[in-house]
Amino acid sequence: HAKNLGKNTWQVYNSQVQKRKTDLKTESHLYKALANREFFLVYQPQFEKDSSHLIGIEALLRWRNKDLGLVSPSEFITIAEETGLIVPIGEWAIREACQQAKAWQDEGYPPVKISVNLSMRQFYHNDLVEMVAQILQETGLPAKYLELEITESMAIHAEEATDILNRLSGLGVKISIDDFGTGYSSLSYLKRFPIHQLKIDKSFIKDIGVDRENNDIITTIISLADSLNLEVIAEGVETASQLDFLRRNGCDKYQGYYFAKPMKPEQIVSHFNPKLFH
Ligand code: C2E
Ligand code: CA
Ligand code: CA
Ligand code: CA
Repeated sequence: HAKNLGKNTWQVYNSQVQKRKTDLKTESHLYKALANREFFLVYQPQFEKDSSHLIGIEALLRWRNKDLGLVSPSEFITIAEETGLIVPIGEWAIREACQQAKAWQDEGYPPVKISVNLSMRQFYHNDLVEMVAQILQETGLPAKYLELEITESMAIHAEEATDILNRLSGLGVKISIDDFGTGYSSLSYLKRFPIHQLKIDKSFIKDIGVDRENNDIITTIISLADSLNLEVIAEGVETASQLDFLRRNGCDKYQGYYFAKPMKPEQIVSHFNPKLFH
């Protein structure tokens, strides 16, 4: 019936308009967010074997705005990426994470890697390598404690990506492939890129035990990492049975709510191994 169709069309149209309005509002606030110091980082620990072996910490961006409240990265990263704002925001995140990691080391906590996410636009931005070098120099964090997380999609311009990664790795920075298994790129980049770790995407971890094919994908990623001499870590580990499956299949690095949620820097210090404290 024409009337119903009209109503549905209106609803779809209306919800698109609403989304566009929300995005525009987010965008206009995003321009001022850095100057207004509205960003902060939360930190999620990564463990080897069990929760007494902290091996790394992932820094995750958070945005709190007085009109919008707490906005999740899934809502603002895309807009930041489209507007190019991700470049200065991402630079802020890398600097903040490196400063924090150095501060922990200076306080005497055993040194661990700090991981920071890079988006496509940041990765292909001309100044990336110099910017990272500058931040390391400025903060005094030894390069081997910084890990940058990139995604398979960034292999799209293979030659340029190889050059960028070679220069980053020349600084001593580590590279991890985030969300591994979800991209569409060919795997040939795995032999050209100087990467050190694959991070199994949490969508596969969520479905452990749900179907055989999913479990097979996980064990295949683990043996791929093994044969390429790469580290492998699972993200989004939420349950004991997921952990058990990963352990039995040779993945012994984990990140997820089962161990700890992302938290404020003050809260993370309880996860450093007290036996190694000096
Ligand atoms: P990601 O890099 O894949 O980060 C993992 C996401 O999973 C985080 O969401 C984290 O809070 C969440 N998570 C951790 N453990 C669990 C778990 O056990 N179960 C489930 N269901 N989720 C878990 P978050 O913090 O909302 O970040 C979303 C995405 O935003 C990140 O995905 C990353 O792509 C992007 N992002 C975050 N911080 C930055 C940043 O500083 N720069 C850039 N460029 N992107 C960032
Ligand atoms: Ca990540
Ligand atoms: Ca991920
Ligand atoms: Ca993701």
